[in-house]
Amino acid sequence: YKYNIAYVPKPRYVRVNTLKLGVEPAIHELGKQNTVKRDDMVPDLLMLPPGTDLHDHPLVKNGSVFLQGKASSMVAVALDPEPGWEVLDACSAPGNKTVHLAALMRGKGKIIACELNKERVKRLEDTIDRSLHVKVLHGDFLNLNTKDPLYSKVRAILLDPSCSGSGTAAERLDHLLPSYTTGHAAADADTGRVNKLAAFQRKALAHALSFPAVERVVYSTCSISQTENEDVVNSVLPFAVSHGFQLETPFPRWPRRGLPVFQGSEHLLRTDPEKDQEGFFIALFVRKSIIGSPEK
Ligand code: SAM
Repeated sequence: YKYNIAYVPKPRYVRVNTLKLGVEPAIHELGKQNTVKRDDMVPDLLMLPPGTDLHDHPLVKNGSVFLQGKASSMVAVALDPEPGWEVLDACSAPGNKTVHLAALMRGKGKIIACELNKERVKRLEDTIDRSLHVKVLHGDFLNLNTKDPLYSKVRAILLDPSCSGSGTAAERLDHLLPSYTTGHAAADADTGRVNKLAAFQRKALAHALSFPAVERVVYSTCSISQTENEDVVNSVLPFAVSHGFQLETPFPRWPRRGLPVFQGSEHLLRTDPEKDQEGFFIALFVRKSIIGSPEK
């Protein structure tokens, strides 16, 4: 069968929410029923045997452990916020990465979690639960005023905007359907949708890079489309450079990088839907010094 590779058993990844539980106690608890290993690249990420079902596990239910894949867990780690910083999660629901940021900051500092969709704000509030230093903001990230004193100390921004999701399992199964069931009209609609998403992604990325004190911006998608990934970064790059940013290399040991479509794309990170279970994309923008902002 042509798509067999998708069915090769893959480990089940879980991320320990270190705000609630240490990694060792988590390994001990999960190890009662399964073989548990640590991931060698992403801290606090554990690997369990393929097919392990933890949906009803008490540690999952009480938010000590998140059912979050490896690629998705790389995003907040790439941003690398320091404890005590002010951080903005621009498109945050359901909040998996918000909680991950809070854990990386060891509960110290402040996170503003912005979300446009009202229903999803509820899910965000459920997820963040008792992460007290997260302030939820129901609104459009594009409408946040970069000059508002509320954001004058924001040093890192995570931008994980709406995307086509073409790197995720559910979306990929759709694309495996023979063309006679989807047809050209569907393919055209798809292109139109991706272009529309990319227009929003470009605006949102430029907006993120416009906050006065921001030093680190991560742009991520769960899409495999060049239009939503390398093309978005490439088109915003001159603006980024004019604001003092450059691309840096998240997870330098990771082998899969951006498609070689512009100079600098080797800094970008891609995960492969088959080899890595999910197709994610990460770009990291860093600026070293900002006039008038406190030194690190
Ligand atoms: N970072 C989240 C996580 O890891 O749990 C997933 C974010 S999801 C890919 C994108 C989110 O952005 C959606 O919940 C969507 O409603 C929200 N969104 C879309 N446009 C937005 C906007 N203009 N401002 C704020 N949020 C927006």
